[in-house]
Amino acid sequence: MATESFGFQAEISQLLDLIINTFYSNKEIFLREIISNGSDALDKIRYASLTDPSALETERDLYIRITPDKENKLLSIRDTGVGMTKADLVNNLGTIAKSGTKGFMEALSSGADISMIGQFGVGFYSAYLVAERVQVISKHNDDEQYIWESAAGGTFTITPDTTGEPLGRGTEIRLYLKEDQTEYLEEKKIKEIVKKHSEFISYPIQLAVTKEVEKVSRFQMPPSDCGSYDDEELKDEKEESKIEEVEDDDKPKEKKTKKVKETETTNEELNKTKPIWTRNPQDINPEEYGAFYKSLTNDWEEHLAVKHFSVEGQLEFKAILYIPKRAPFDLFETKKKRNNIKLYVRRVFIMDDCEDLIPEYLNFVKGIVDSEDLPLNISRETLQQNKILKVIRKNIVRKCMDLFTEISEDKDNFNKFYEAFGKNLKLGIHEDAQNRSKLAEFLRFFSTKSLEEQTSLKDYITRMPEVQKSIYYLTGESLAAVRDSPFLEVLKKKGFEVLLLVDPIDEYAVTQLKEFEGKKLICVSKEGLELEETEEEKKVREEEAAQFNDLCQTIKEALGDKVEKVVVSNRITDSPCVLVTGQFGWSSNMERIMKAQALRDSSMSSYMASKKTLELNPSNAIIKELKRKVAEDKADKSVRDLTFLLFETALLTSGFSLDDPTSFAKRINRMISLGLDVDEEEEESAPAEDSSAPPPLESVSTSAMEEID
Ligand code: ADP
Ligand code: MG
Repeated sequence: MATESFGFQAEISQLLDLIINTFYSNKEIFLREIISNGSDALDKIRYASLTDPSALETERDLYIRITPDKENKLLSIRDTGVGMTKADLVNNLGTIAKSGTKGFMEALSSGADISMIGQFGVGFYSAYLVAERVQVISKHNDDEQYIWESAAGGTFTITPDTTGEPLGRGTEIRLYLKEDQTEYLEEKKIKEIVKKHSEFISYPIQLAVTKEVEKVSRFQMPPSDCGSYDDEELKDEKEESKIEEVEDDDKPKEKKTKKVKETETTNEELNKTKPIWTRNPQDINPEEYGAFYKSLTNDWEEHLAVKHFSVEGQLEFKAILYIPKRAPFDLFETKKKRNNIKLYVRRVFIMDDCEDLIPEYLNFVKGIVDSEDLPLNISRETLQQNKILKVIRKNIVRKCMDLFTEISEDKDNFNKFYEAFGKNLKLGIHEDAQNRSKLAEFLRFFSTKSLEEQTSLKDYITRMPEVQKSIYYLTGESLAAVRDSPFLEVLKKKGFEVLLLVDPIDEYAVTQLKEFEGKKLICVSKEGLELEETEEEKKVREEEAAQFNDLCQTIKEALGDKVEKVVVSNRITDSPCVLVTGQFGWSSNMERIMKAQALRDSSMSSYMASKKTLELNPSNAIIKELKRKVAEDKADKSVRDLTFLLFETALLTSGFSLDDPTSFAKRINRMISLGLDVDEEEEESAPAEDSSAPPPLESVSTSAMEEID
């Protein structure tokens, strides 16, 4: 029959080379990967059979069987799972690379261990750690039986299997072991590896063990021929059977017994432990939880925290939930279906990644749920409306909160946890209104009083001076960008702590959160900042506003549409001015984030990018001097020029970006020239002043600049 050849996709080929050529001693994990694939395939056919019971007709027994064949240095692992069609074989085993292919190679080059392969979704290729040649024989209900074969080297073949033993349904992986890897044919070794890595697989893993057994049979010796026999029982024995004649003194002379040595193959089940979640938590030690976690998730490290519980009463279920130590490499890769919580119904596996069991923001929580109440033939579609499932989900979320609380009791652990999954918690604040205030307890931020270590909102509140009524925060790109922001000047002076939110998702979270323990969350870069001023302070500000009215107006006229209004500020003590945004519009940080997101509807941004208000600091020397100039002569040209410089500088210190950095740079360069006393003429003829530069400086002339001096 026709054999077709295919080339491995380039990255896969590269990966195979790496697997084959990297010196690596912990090769045994290949078996875990092959078994785990068998188990996945069994899960798939089980799930399919829920809606189509006839799917199982091709093979009713669900198992994984390992058969060592020492003579041929061949290790076979077969499963009665869903199998693969010809197209599956071509696509899944060689031509379509997953994101993990590259991801795994990158991880390897930065020191990851080959045993992590399973997490990257390329576990199958670990077969080449021990095999020089691999055959995958597979039979899917929708196709004929095919043989996939490859000795790596860039290509594989597919051949219709017309002569081999029919599998019924499922897959047999045949590993032709390398000369030096034959230890994996030893029963003892196989048992040890299965125990270590695959104990919790929920289908029977059988090992075909071959024993030499002695069978005793009595028979009548034919008078002359002592080598033959005609006992019915022995007729269909294996060819290898050796017959040995023995004298038996107790028996009458003419009657003899024969001891018959024969090889007998039995299938020994290697994973007989009952499902761990059905056992009493008190009888389960941490190592067992760790081993179960690893088998469930393919993780190479143990979990950070675990919760094993059962719910009884109107509705019954048992569950084990785990928090991993780290985030997987593709936590926020949305296209990928996550294997988070496995759903069982009365010990029968129903499905992986049951989306309705847990909200998306908790997609890092792993575990299993075993329900007593759900019907066995439940499908993804009917799950969504299922009331029982809704109750289970609510319970799971609550237990997750308990788990987080437990983790938060140990600071080091919590820091690790927060680093890995803090984004998820913030997403939760955004999405899960019901648990918002609970989730807020787990938030940690840097602040003006806690720059080294992140603080909780609870701790923040304990540090609030009595007069302070609200929780203040400032968002920005990085700690360095916000820690000395002009927005913090008065707050620092008053001893009001300000949270510094530097994760892009922070702003989404706090705008949803709005308050914590009855205290409003207030953005210090937005309009209408209440700073618990005394009557005295308010009066002073009103007076200042009146005094600076003229200056404010002049500046507003100069800047035109660039600002909504110009007012006297209550939040700066040192800087000359800042730009604040509307209470319900975007902050400068949000504007930056939105600009960075390509393909956004620009009409939205012009609407949301709220008008800026320029706030002036009445005690700043520059502002005072400007005020004097305006009082002297409203039409003073230098006022207008300086206004633009002040405005653009304020854009930068307030966290905005410059629309026209070139004009800003020109203004600054002119200042520098002035400072250095560079000859005007020389400068003008310099090539830097070429005509390609956009709009002329807003009527700023060198002579006007000189006037400031
Ligand atoms: P993963 O298991 O993470 O998907 P693998 O590299 O281990 O990645 O396997 C690749 C794919 O090959 C699987 O997703 C599956 O589609 C297919 N596959 C591998 N082994 C089997 C098997 N025994 N039965 C059916 N399909 C299999
Ligand atoms: Mg796999």
